[in-house]
Amino acid sequence: MQAQGKALKIAVIGAGMGGLAAASLLARDGHRVTLIERFESPRPLGSGLMVQPVGLAVLDELGQGDAARALGAPIRRMRGWSAQGLDGTATGLTGAFHEALQGRDALDVHYPPQEPAFAMLRASLFHVLWQAMQASDLQLITGETVVRALPYGGGRVLHSEHGEIGAFDLVVDASGAGSALSPLRARALHYGAIWAHVPWPEASDMSQDQLRQRYFRASRMAGLMPIGSLPGESQRRAAVFWSMSRPELEQWGEDRFDAWKASASTFWPQMQPFLAGLTSASQMTPAFYSHGTLRRPYAPGLVFIGDAAHRASPQLGQGANMALLDALALREALRGPPDEALTAYARMRRWHVRLYQLFSAFLTPAYQSDSRILPLIRDFGLAPISLVPPVPWLLTRLVAGRLIPPLASKRWP
Ligand SMILES: Cc1cc2nc3c(=O)[nH]c(=O)nc-3n(C[C@H](O)[C@H](O)[C@H](O)COP(=O)(O)OP(=O)(O)OC[C@H]3O[C@@H](n4cnc5c(N)ncnc54)[C@H](O)[C@@H]3O)c2cc1C
Repeated sequence: MQAQGKALKIAVIGAGMGGLAAASLLARDGHRVTLIERFESPRPLGSGLMVQPVGLAVLDELGQGDAARALGAPIRRMRGWSAQGLDGTATGLTGAFHEALQGRDALDVHYPPQEPAFAMLRASLFHVLWQAMQASDLQLITGETVVRALPYGGGRVLHSEHGEIGAFDLVVDASGAGSALSPLRARALHYGAIWAHVPWPEASDMSQDQLRQRYFRASRMAGLMPIGSLPGESQRRAAVFWSMSRPELEQWGEDRFDAWKASASTFWPQMQPFLAGLTSASQMTPAFYSHGTLRRPYAPGLVFIGDAAHRASPQLGQGANMALLDALALREALRGPPDEALTAYARMRRWHVRLYQLFSAFLTPAYQSDSRILPLIRDFGLAPISLVPPVPWLLTRLVAGRLIPPLASKRWP
């Protein structure tokens, strides 16, 4: 379809989740798009992630929804429960409460049967977005790290480490959490995690359509998530994750690996078959989390999408979805009057982004922090309330990305 607004010369920085989607959507609308990526061979980092129903709708818009569903694993339920500490001891009053919480559900969210989320390897999501990009009429430049976007007329002139790249009517910054252009200064979160993906073990009788987490207070979270398969492979896989404080993550290495594996096996015996194939710390990717939101995700000739505009812990499983939604909103905004496009984009996404950032900031410490009180509130307060209608319905809409309309009042595909 052609853009209703003027066809623009657009640079998209970053061939990640948001950049690939934005470049493809904008090129298909008739804009002259150049996609610039710092790596020679763009590649996804990390293990697995959840593509929520709203993210799948954007992939459908790109003609890649079915490919994503075929590669991913449908997730119909997310369950988490409190467990004994790593050393099996519980002390003091809060310790006694924690003792009483053994095996207690702390999280239980169902997706509607007809609309599950899909958990995917990051490489698989990257693959379907890459296919969409290749099927679009755009220019790809790799091996260029953008360092500056200087105002020029109403647009920007882009510079990489090697010199000037060119002048553009609009620059879309989709360069993620390490953006050199975004003014966002996110708050570092005290907890992150180590992640790996492993072949789904035959010895495990765990259900392959559930994400499961096990907690000790909020200082330890272990997770298992079915994530489907890699492109061209039939082997189904699982993501294994284990939360760690920032200092622990900074020290993560081979000398910690055996002790970690032993404590993970004790903490959650059902995890053992998933750990069997892990033999080295280098198989686990450490991930540091941060939180922050740009109040105004644009400047003249420059617009921010994805992690360059907002960052949060992955507790709600929304980051990639948010980047995909930003890309779709930008396409919609550019179909209107060019002078109002960036404000229209910001308006479309404002409340959805703010609400999810608020929920993430509120919920993350109950699952990942040193607090002794918050996990008690989680298990004694939030968990029972979550079973009382209409809270289950609201929780389902929250995780699916549909608590409020993702593009405000704009048409939703
Ligand atoms: C451990 C972990 C688990 C997660 N789990 C989930 C989940 O379950 N569900 C979910 O929706 N989200 C999840 N997320 C979040 C999600 O991965 C991110 O929010 C999402 O990838 C952001 O997309 P993006 O396009 O903004 O950035 P990215 O995907 O990070 O892409 C940025 C791209 O820009 C390139 N780049 C960077 N700087 C430059 C430069 N100067 N010049 C040129 N190119 C550049 C990079 O190489 C990269 O290709 C998780 C994140 C982590 C760390």
